[in-house]
Amino acid sequence: MIKSLWSDTATLPTFPPLSRDEKAEVCIVGGGMAGILCAYFLEQAGVSYILCEADTIGGGTTAGTTAVISAQHDTLYQTLMKNKGYTKARLYLEANLHAVSAYKSLCQDISCDFEEIPACIYSCADSPLMEDEVKALHALGYNARLLHDIPLPRPALAAVEFPAQAQFHPLKFLGEIAKGMNIREHTKILSLKTGLAMTEHYRIQADKIIVASHFPFWNGCGMFFAKLYQKRSYVLAVKGAESISGSFVEYGKNGMYFRNYKDLLLVGGGDHRTGKAGCYFAPIKNFVAAHYPAASNAYAWSAQDCISLDGVPYIGPYSNVLPDVYVATGFNEWGMTSSMTAARILTDMVTGRQNKYAGVFSPARNMFTKQLWNNIGTSLTGLLTPSRLRCPHMGCALKWNSLDKTWDCPCHGSRFTKDGKLIYNPATEDLPDTALTDGTAKS
Ligand SMILES: Cc1cc2nc3c(=O)[nH]c(=O)nc-3n(C[C@H](O)[C@H](O)[C@H](O)COP(=O)(O)OP(=O)(O)OC[C@H]3O[C@@H](n4cnc5c(N)ncnc54)[C@H](O)[C@@H]3O)c2cc1C
Repeated sequence: MIKSLWSDTATLPTFPPLSRDEKAEVCIVGGGMAGILCAYFLEQAGVSYILCEADTIGGGTTAGTTAVISAQHDTLYQTLMKNKGYTKARLYLEANLHAVSAYKSLCQDISCDFEEIPACIYSCADSPLMEDEVKALHALGYNARLLHDIPLPRPALAAVEFPAQAQFHPLKFLGEIAKGMNIREHTKILSLKTGLAMTEHYRIQADKIIVASHFPFWNGCGMFFAKLYQKRSYVLAVKGAESISGSFVEYGKNGMYFRNYKDLLLVGGGDHRTGKAGCYFAPIKNFVAAHYPAASNAYAWSAQDCISLDGVPYIGPYSNVLPDVYVATGFNEWGMTSSMTAARILTDMVTGRQNKYAGVFSPARNMFTKQLWNNIGTSLTGLLTPSRLRCPHMGCALKWNSLDKTWDCPCHGSRFTKDGKLIYNPATEDLPDTALTDGTAKS
């Protein structure tokens, strides 16, 4: 379980491990926000399911999020209009606005510190980009506002505001909706085929399987090893800083983001590809020290998310050679609304209902983008780099992360403790003991 503000302030229900072969209409792999919401909507639809979680529910990236619920996903709308056209951009917007509304209605009955807030993307360098985003949104029929007077301790030039978005405590929410669900914790699925999900000892027979394991762990098909990479990000929750009204996310490579939770200000940033060098907590620590000298750090954590090739998640059939297996991944650090969208689309798919948003998120869409060649190049470099320590996922050379004292894979983002224990997929197993006994293990 990622240690964060959320994991420290919520008590999650616990569930037994799988102890025999079982059968259900649907098997869900992964108990993060995506998997639990799929289980929720399947239950509502009267479908029998069993959800298998390798560790404990809500312990993956969902524990490390900043939990802003927003249909604003960076400056994606102008890119979607340009690359995919009006109809797909409009459907993407609608799907995400529906996701925000769905949280609003669900959270009415759940005590999870839900608050309606404006969500903004801002830039300290590129005002025209913000103007273009507002123009794209207006063309899509959405009334986003362009701001020039931005209430931030940063020299922001312009921002795009989506009114009435939201934020919440993700694990209080997840813990409440998971109560009474048919879940098996400490149950890792190691292989899949149509109709069957297998652990080390048992099998689950299911008509349909939903893979919501964050990075899809099954390499047999689907090409997710080329279609995704993972990006780490760092968050401080500080006490004694002035509060900020809303969520603010900076556009660009070294961007910083802000939101409040009760009397804490959350400041995030320092993003970098997992396994590549980054500045870790340094930029946000320096910022907090300079702007809030009297503030104290209450929590510090880091986590990583899966990044798709075109900024749109992959939600739908895993691959056309693996019928009745579905996937939800590639949330691009916008996994609260994307998990909700995934749960609605996948519930419709497994129950045979049409969903008008499905086409936009199809994992089978065109993948020829610049990022594809970047991912392939990184993987080839990882495969050809000499090292005794190799990732069990696809064999890339692992890199030592001196901040976290972990072994990280730059190709697909698997991570291991210094003793070789798996902490992040897509790898499904620990490093072999032999790899760590040749003097390369760090202490
Ligand atoms: C620092 C940071 C801040 C973010 N802030 C926001 C935000 O403000 N708003 C927003 O919308 N999004 C945000 N995101 C993104 C969002 O948090 C994620 O996209 C989302 O939590 C992913 O949920 P998930 O269910 O896909 O994955 P996870 O929460 O990682 O769940 C996957 C689960 O699958 C389990 N699993 C893996 N392999 C197996 C297996 N083989 N068998 C069984 N179980 C398995 C794992 O143990 C895990 O519990 C942020 C991300 C980061 C890193």
